[in-house]
Parts: sequence; C-alpha cells; structure tokens
Amino acid sequence: MPLPDLGDYEVWFVTGSQHLYGSEALDRVAADAREVAAALGASHHVPVRVVWKPTVTRPDDVLATLQAANSDPKCVGVAAWMHTFSPAKMWIAGLRALRKPLLHLHTQHGREIPWSAIDMDFMNLHQSAHGGREFGFACTRLGVERKVVVGHWSDDAVHQRVGAWARAAAGRHELARARIARLGDNMREVAVTEGDKVAAQEVLGVAVDGYGVGELAARVDAASDADVDRLCSDYDHAYQLAEPLRPGGDRRGSLRDAARIELGLRGFLTEGGFAGFTDTFEDLVGIKQLPGIAAQRLMADGYGFGAEGDWKAAAMVRASKVMAAGLPGGVSFMEDYTYHLPESGGDLVLGAHMLEVCPTIAAGRPRCEVHPLGIGGKEDPVRLVFDAAPGPAVNATLIDLGDRFRMIVNQVEAIAPPHELPKLPVARAVWKPAPDLATAAAAWIYAGGSHHPVYSPALTVEHYEDLAAMVGVELIVIDESTDLRTLRQSLRRSSLRRV
Ligand code: MN
Repeated sequence: MPLPDLGDYEVWFVTGSQHLYGSEALDRVAADAREVAAALGASHHVPVRVVWKPTVTRPDDVLATLQAANSDPKCVGVAAWMHTFSPAKMWIAGLRALRKPLLHLHTQHGREIPWSAIDMDFMNLHQSAHGGREFGFACTRLGVERKVVVGHWSDDAVHQRVGAWARAAAGRHELARARIARLGDNMREVAVTEGDKVAAQEVLGVAVDGYGVGELAARVDAASDADVDRLCSDYDHAYQLAEPLRPGGDRRGSLRDAARIELGLRGFLTEGGFAGFTDTFEDLVGIKQLPGIAAQRLMADGYGFGAEGDWKAAAMVRASKVMAAGLPGGVSFMEDYTYHLPESGGDLVLGAHMLEVCPTIAAGRPRCEVHPLGIGGKEDPVRLVFDAAPGPAVNATLIDLGDRFRMIVNQVEAIAPPHELPKLPVARAVWKPAPDLATAAAAWIYAGGSHHPVYSPALTVEHYEDLAAMVGVELIVIDESTDLRTLRQSLRRSSLRRV
C-alpha cells in the first residue's frame, strides 16, 4: 500500500471561548483563530491541513464538534486553543467523547504586552494564560492524553512541535487501519518477536493475519517473463549491478528469480491491501531465495517489514514510514548486529540484517549483489548493499510484556563506517547511541527492547513520544539525559501492577 499524502489529512483547529465578553470579542476571537490556524497550516513543518472550526462557547458546541472530528475519516487529530477563558465544565462531555489525538496549543495572539496601552478589555480578550490552565485542569482531571505546546503561534519551534504531533497523529491513524500479512510464523524459539495480536488490534488498531507461503509461491511462479524482463531492466538502471548479475552474466538467472519474487510479493500485497508483511527463512516452501531485494524495495515504497515473523516490527516500520512521509532521511527495519569496543573508547554499533535493510537510508547508489546465505538452505539471495548515510537518527521498538506493550526509543548518531567493509555483503549502518553505548545498551536491555528496531534518520524521539502517548503505550526514552539508576527506578515503578 503506497504511503498516504499527509496533505490529504486534517487537523481541526478548535477555539474555546464564552459569551461573557460580548459578540465583538467573539468576532475578534474567531478572526485571530483563523489567522493562527492558517499560519500553522502554512508552516512547512506541519504536513497536514489545519482546518479552522467555529469557536465553541457552549457544551453542545464542544460535543458536536469533537464528535464530528471522531467520525471524519480525514481528521487525524484536534488542536485546541483557549483564546479567552472557556469554562472547562463545558468541555467535559466533548473530551469524554473525543477519540482522536488532542493537542493543546497554549499561545496568545499578541506576542508582546502593549505596556502603555493595555487596559482591562485587552486583558480580558487575551487571557489564554489562565484560560489554558482551566482547560488543562479539565484534561488532567478527566485523564485525557494530550500534547501541550507553549509558545507564540508564529514561532518555528512551535510549528516543529505541532508538526511532530501531526505526523504522529498520521502514524496513529495509519496503525488504526493497517493490515499486516504474515508469510510463515515466527522464527522458531525466538521470544521477542511473539506477542498478542488481539491486544495489538485492541490497543494499536493494526490487524495481523497469517497467510500460507504457498499462496505467495503460486504468484511468484505466475509472474510473466515480460514482467521479469522489465523489472530486471529497472534493477539495471537503478543500482550498480555486480558483474555476474548484468545481462549475459552467469548469475543473471538469480536476478531474474529475485525479480520474480518481487513481482509475486508485490502482487500479493497490492491485491490484499496490506500495509506491511513479515517472512521467515524457516518457511520458504516453493520460494527459491529468501526475499532480499524484494523486501528492500517494498520497504522503500512504504511497506512495513519485519523479518523472522516480527509483525510488531512490520507495524512499527509502516507507522514510521507514514510519520516520516515527505521528510528526508528514510526509515528501515534494522538489527543491532555487532559492537565495536576499542580500548581507546568511542564504542559503536554495527547495524544490519541478513538482507533486509531499506535503501531509503542509503548514503549513495546501492550495489546489487548475490551471495550465499548461510542459513535457510535456499539459493543465494540477491540483495542491495550500501552504507547508511551519517547523521542523527533514532532506533525504536515495540515489545509485548504480557500485560501491556512498551515502546523504547534511543537517540543515535550514525557515522560513515570508519573502515571499508569489503567482505560484508549486506547493507549496514554504523552508529553511536546516546548517551554512550554502555548506558544505551544497558538501558535498552533493562527495558526489554528487541533486537529488531526501526531505524530512522527522518524521525526524532518526539515523534515516538507523541505516538506512544496517542496510542496509550508506555514509552522508555534513551537519550543524552539517560541515567541508568533513574531509568531502572522508573522501570520498577512501571512494573507495579494496578490491582
Ligand atoms: Mn533478525
């Protein structure tokens, strides 16, 4: 399923007020709110449309507006602003009904106080400083999850925070409708890739169902030679093909097999309307190679992917790709593979996978190669090989603790590999985790994080912070401020079950 255009989605901008100050004040509130909504919508940080809604001044207005937001399929969230003072009991019914993510924009129309001119009328009109507190009390009292963004509405920093929330809201919207196809089960004996699919659908919305590999094999076999020719020609142009894979090369047959697998897999996913998929090298009956370049290219087109049956990873990759739509940097399935622990310091992680790393994170034009795969007993798979681009990135994962889900996110800094890796035939990323490898890896392990994160230079911790809050999932952040003692205490607290 292709990535949605986030510009088709809407955030509703709802302003709260009351009738105490007369119709003239309400006209001014409406005009100011239109201006703020337009400025947010015009910001390049905000990828969705920001739709101004008429000022709400009575309980019925609030309830009707928020119920309409619930049922509008284009609306991914609601931004609320208390321009004046909006007594919050009128918000209770609406907030209890609201089922879309909420952002509380705590701003005011004027940037500065007009010291010499300010009078009581001006102060009554521009009193979001306490109007926002009244609204905040109601949200906290009712236990309504929301993001509070404070600052002048024209500030870039405010636009960035609203934009991150809007992207997370699009990710949540995607999870609520996404369907993931599992081809084969999990890799045998692996624990962290397991989980409760009913709970995932209840909490996140994502539907995960299994399909026989035979269905895929039949589609792979049915791919026409003409389509295989065309796709191989695409590969010829898009990548630096290893000599044996080029037309007339002695491994050209392997490339054709890989193209056939991509055609079969793409057809299966398109026809089923799937947003992502998993496979496993332990169940490839009727498929010649473990899908390598196919999984890589499908990820690049926006599909979620999880290896070894890791459907939570597939859902996370898909949600992340939607959150990152239109941003530079890419999103990929990843695996923490091997450490670099030099005596001189500067510990690093080498991230990679057997094959399936997404070329959206590549530093340059990927090479296309064929090599044996030591496991699975299938023919040599064709894969894209590249180094990930340097720069800031995040690793994020979702685990099932049995009684709840937990999301874990780690800020990292990718670097160009310090040396050539001439014998490593897979795509890879080299990164330094924040605050340092010893703290980050211990924190990740204490938190129970999986070895299958989604890796993204396009996204930040804030996107996952907002997403986790929206879906009501616990979040553990590992960044420059992480201290292991504090982290362990917070993990202990979160494991205290409510009875
Ligand atoms: Mn793996």
